Amino acid sequence: MHFPIKKFLSYYRPYLRLFLSVLACAFIASAVTLILPLLVRYITKDVLEGDLSIALSKVYWIGGLMLFLAAVQNIGNYFVDYKGHEVGGRMERDMRSELFAHMQKLSFSFYDKEKTGQLMSRITNDLLLLSELYHHGPEDYMKYLVRFLGAFVILFMINAPLTLAVFCFLPIIGIFSLVLNKKLNRLFKRNKERIADVNAQVEDSLSGIRVVKSFANEHVEVRKFNQENQRFFESRKSTYKAEAIYYDGVETLIQLITITVIVFGSASIVHHTLDLADLLTFLLYISYMVEPIQKLTHMSTQLQEGITGFQRFMEIMNLQPAIESKPDAVTLTKVHGDIEFKHVSFRYEDHLDPVFVNLSLHVRPGEYVALVGPSGAGKTTLCSLIPRFYDVTDGDVLLDGWSVRELDLKSLRSQIGIVQQDVYLFAGTVMDNIRYGSPEASDEEIMAAAKHANAHDFIMSLPNGYHSEIGQRGVLLSGGQKQRLSIARVFLKNPPVLILDEATSALDNESESIIKDSLEYLAKGRTTIVIAHRLSTIRNAERIIVLTEDGIEEEGTHEALLARGGAYAHLYSKQFELQA
Ligand code: ADP
Ligand code: MG
Repeated sequence: MHFPIKKFLSYYRPYLRLFLSVLACAFIASAVTLILPLLVRYITKDVLEGDLSIALSKVYWIGGLMLFLAAVQNIGNYFVDYKGHEVGGRMERDMRSELFAHMQKLSFSFYDKEKTGQLMSRITNDLLLLSELYHHGPEDYMKYLVRFLGAFVILFMINAPLTLAVFCFLPIIGIFSLVLNKKLNRLFKRNKERIADVNAQVEDSLSGIRVVKSFANEHVEVRKFNQENQRFFESRKSTYKAEAIYYDGVETLIQLITITVIVFGSASIVHHTLDLADLLTFLLYISYMVEPIQKLTHMSTQLQEGITGFQRFMEIMNLQPAIESKPDAVTLTKVHGDIEFKHVSFRYEDHLDPVFVNLSLHVRPGEYVALVGPSGAGKTTLCSLIPRFYDVTDGDVLLDGWSVRELDLKSLRSQIGIVQQDVYLFAGTVMDNIRYGSPEASDEEIMAAAKHANAHDFIMSLPNGYHSEIGQRGVLLSGGQKQRLSIARVFLKNPPVLILDEATSALDNESESIIKDSLEYLAKGRTTIVIAHRLSTIRNAERIIVLTEDGIEEEGTHEALLARGGAYAHLYSKQFELQA
């Protein structure tokens, strides 16, 4: 895949000055670390060869200089560690916001395909890797390059043969780190997979704990769990082994270099080609040359992971929402609620079979229409074409004579209220959740909506009334209570068009009858399409439309359809038998 380098770098732009100063600090700090061993060398030379009284006076000001340099180095490093990470963190934050905002824009067809868990990991993990690269990448390369080149040049000037001898060890360390880092990365990845398996096993067993207990199969679950736990341990064990080989191996190689330097250095001292101060300098600089080589593989992993993270980020950012307002979209203010499906054909993306072919239907403003038919016939799909959750493949859907594709999406969707079987409540209070229907609503309006939805009484009986927290940590609501909150939301939104998609199907008879009342009240004065299983809900609809896999099979009032003796009469008698 082509790597969009320009886009990648563009995230530095807002923080360019801070970033460059961090880079400058990294440079200064590494340069200063290079000077310290030189000072040691200078001092030792004087002590060894010079006039001792002069040497003593020098020791103090060199000591002072060392203190100063150490201060510069550490302040520089502090700035790099703190502000450098901050730059990375800021960039990560910006990208995360951008990604989340973009995901909010993507259409249903995208979410039909993607798993929430995977999207979450894109927003969190991928970007974490990226921020490490953004900030550590340039600084580490700078730091190690300065140290390595600096140490090499200085040592080369002091004694070329010994420097080259040290240099010969570097490829060995390089290859050794490369091989072991590769292995370690593989093992780390396996550890992650194994712990994920352990988690999955815990989740599976605990979610199904009722089944486990009813079959008295605890021991089976324990066995399955222990298997996964053992596999995780085995994987950890091999990781520890590889880690030990890696760290102790590098340590051994460094010792080999040190011993080489000591042996050959001492020999050179005997032959007067090197003095003790130089030998000491060599020993001090060894780590400067080894560390960059050792870190090289780590940095290349960081680079790879960062680049992969960025590509995954761009994969989503490059997706265009399938459904967007046109630039010259029309904003509707007052809507009557006239809905027309004109020769509509529709097929879900990546599906071969169309759900509808050439379907036409007209719902007049204020009409109360029921949609019935076998499950899978396309009732929900048909309704989702009105707020333009999906675009038709052929034909057109009109609201008040406007094609929904001509309308501004926000203005279109604000005209339509949907109550469906699954209610989703957000984290927050009861009040927050109802207010979702109209963010500007006052507390009084919210209470009025809750009263209309028959929700006020049960809300008042909650520990904190309207301020009770619901959602993950909050009070537990029954299905019927949740549904009443979602109805209150729609009351508050007050849309001219209403879609009730099996709103009462999941409820017991008692909750259903409470909710039926408030739904009927909600439907007053609005164009309403109600999808329901229970024929009791729909028998008083002005018009009943029977949708089957072949399209609209018949339509009419309850009585007319019964008299006709067709599909509806058949459905009705079947349910009547069931209920009887
Ligand atoms: P109903 O509401 O009448 O039970 P649906 O509108 O839910 O029927 O489904 C109609 C058909 O479209 C079914 O065959 C169903 O499997 C398919 N379908 C529903 N939703 C999707 C989707 N998001 N992606 C692909 N196919 C879908
Ligand atoms: Mg449905």
